Amino acid sequence: MGKKVVIDEEECMGCEACVEIAPDIFEFNDDEEKAIVIKAEGGDKDAIQEAIDACPASCITLE
Ligand code: SF4
Repeated sequence: MGKKVVIDEEECMGCEACVEIAPDIFEFNDDEEKAIVIKAEGGDKDAIQEAIDACPASCITLE
């Protein structure tokens, strides 16, 4: 509760896994080739956790 979804953009490999799993939380920035958080306050917790688990760079965190 009250946690924020954060991507460490330095570490993001641009694989788009998180965007596919939780498109209401993450969006892909084609210019930067990195994912960004569009809904930091979160949403579907299972989808967020799934994205965290799926991220190959382990750069998605809940703070
Ligand atoms: S799953 Fe991780 S590495 Fe892949 S786009 Fe999302 S934040 Fe970047």
